[in-house]
Amino acid sequence: MDSPLSRFVGVGPVRQRELAELGLRSAGDLLGHLPHRYEDRRKVISVAEALNSLEGHCTVRGVLHDLRAIRVRRRNLNLISGRLSDGSGELQVSWFNRPYLVNQVIPGEEYLLSGKLRPTRGGVQLQNPSCERADSQVHAGRIVPIYLAAGKFGPAFLRRLISDVLDRVDVMETVPEYLPEALLASRGLPPLGEAIVELHRPAESVSIESLNARRSPAHLRLIYGEFFDLQLELALLRADQIEQPKPHEYAVNDRVREVARGILPFRLTDAQKRVLKQIVDDLRQREPMLRLLQGDVGSGKTIIAALALVVAFESGLQGAFMAPTELLAEQHFRTLQSILGERYRVVLLTSSAAEGKQSRALLKQGHAQLAVGTHALIQEKISFRQLGLCVIDEQHRFGVAQRRLLQRKGLRPDMLVMTATPIPRSLALTAYGDLEVSVLDELPPGRSPVATQVVPLEMRSQVYAELHRELRAGAQAYIVFPLIEESRHLEVASIETQGTEIRALLGDVPSAVLHGRMPATERDEVMKAFTGGTLRVLIATTVIEVGVDVPQATIMIIESAERFGLAQLHQLRGRVGRGRRVSRCVALHGKLSVEGERRLACFGSTTDGFEIAETDLDIRGPGELLGTRQAGLPSFRAANLLRDREWLIRARADARELLPRLEEPQFARLRRRILPRVKSRYERFAGG
Ligand code: ADP
Ligand code: MG
Repeated sequence: MDSPLSRFVGVGPVRQRELAELGLRSAGDLLGHLPHRYEDRRKVISVAEALNSLEGHCTVRGVLHDLRAIRVRRRNLNLISGRLSDGSGELQVSWFNRPYLVNQVIPGEEYLLSGKLRPTRGGVQLQNPSCERADSQVHAGRIVPIYLAAGKFGPAFLRRLISDVLDRVDVMETVPEYLPEALLASRGLPPLGEAIVELHRPAESVSIESLNARRSPAHLRLIYGEFFDLQLELALLRADQIEQPKPHEYAVNDRVREVARGILPFRLTDAQKRVLKQIVDDLRQREPMLRLLQGDVGSGKTIIAALALVVAFESGLQGAFMAPTELLAEQHFRTLQSILGERYRVVLLTSSAAEGKQSRALLKQGHAQLAVGTHALIQEKISFRQLGLCVIDEQHRFGVAQRRLLQRKGLRPDMLVMTATPIPRSLALTAYGDLEVSVLDELPPGRSPVATQVVPLEMRSQVYAELHRELRAGAQAYIVFPLIEESRHLEVASIETQGTEIRALLGDVPSAVLHGRMPATERDEVMKAFTGGTLRVLIATTVIEVGVDVPQATIMIIESAERFGLAQLHQLRGRVGRGRRVSRCVALHGKLSVEGERRLACFGSTTDGFEIAETDLDIRGPGELLGTRQAGLPSFRAANLLRDREWLIRARADARELLPRLEEPQFARLRRRILPRVKSRYERFAGG
């Protein structure tokens, strides 16, 4: 099974080492190196036929002659031309950048050329075809797998090597099936070994379209397997976390409902009611809750958390509410204080909050019900008397380790984690697969979408002139500049310079600068003045990106918009359009890269957070989208989160269903495969 690769064709000790460096160490590794696409070479046509079919892909057999290098002025470009004949005619052939062909092709030998026909002035030409000796025959007359080059190994070499592996090893033994037969049968999928053979050597009868779309049963088997493995791992992790009952209980009765109704400042939307019910149902379970609440910006997550907290307080339990920035923690503190403050004691814990010592004592003795704060909440010196419910806002800003630390402030407390970074459901199920997911998919009534303009820098003065008019008519606006990463001093200096410049543009309209390095008291003053309406303009860094909630602000201007990611732009825009008034957003941009153009085109054309997230996923890939904080996000070989989401959902359902029976003897192989991975994932979580 793990025999050295040197027993296969074309591999000596040197190549064996080079292959190993690419992660290809065994026959099994090579079998796992999947084709990137497929070419249909089932039909070989004559030269005459090729000359008559003006374009398209074809395979032609014939003798090559008159091969010569053609000088091209541009450097790095190397052109070979030649002719292919078979008695029925003569076809022009050309190759780019394959100088070695001139020496490799044996005159008078028959070759199979497979490539694209392109019309030229003189008729038709076969361009950049693959070229293989006709007598080797392995790759003609069938659907041919094309591998991506790996290191210095080209597609043809890999094809020959993998073909040799297929000939000489027992595939079923090299890649043994580990999924239960019944499961595969229920999903109509072939066993692993069969799928692997099929992917490297597709049967004649299979449809090339389904292969290239990765919809063939063989592809689906691999895709399903990758998802299933991961979902089973996540299900095991989750089971481990919630296995033991929690020591606390919640009272949900008419009295609690009355209290909750009493604090509600508005009517909940149907989506909010549904999600609140899911949460309260979780709280009443014996196992701790682990729930992710996803809701686009402005969908009203805070009030849901507040109501869940009321249930905890009325049951004699304490709550913790953690947010990623001081600004946001301060704002949540003000909001929660105003909703809950009459009945409960709420304290603020951040590194710059006053009265830290007193707040800590209140929490410890149980005299304060709720602590709102930043990661200051997870410091060693903080303790609660009986923490029942933890809320984490903008959870994607925290690592799993921080979630665990907050959890440890109580005895198996319930966890509600919230995020406004819209994550496609498929990605959420992968990254947060150990959480239950609730989605707020409805905005509070009276909102209209934020009208968005994407505008080049040259029009900046018009943009500001118009802003000025609206401000004089009573509007309130945010102007956001990208963060400068190099140094904190620079960052402050730059936003202050920009502030001065903007202030000059705005004349007598009251405005202020806001950034993350300001003392908390000053920041608080600025926010209060802006919320109260005496300040009309907030000139800010991305500190306002998350959570800031000032419903009467209706204009958002984003400077250097090309420097922001799509998700970030969406978050920023979410600061306006939070009330009944019509809002707008202007994205001012300089020179755009191709990607930048795509980002802004998407941003300008939709306000749907999930659509934006999918485009973002498409542009950046899942790892980038979640950032490095989400340790343990797997990379898939065969699967693609967007394309294959229905299979992800199937695999997840199957994994969860199988979990209680995992100890049965028939699943021994599956256990041996999955359990070690769960262990390493767990250690990463706990350590990271
Ligand atoms: P996010 O989900 O972005 O955290 P918030 O909880 O900050 O959203 O809510 C956005 C705004 O909508 C807040 O001003 C909040 O008071 C308001 N809001 C939330 N739910 C409702 C509702 N059902 N009816 C009216 N306004 C609501
Ligand atoms: Mg929020």
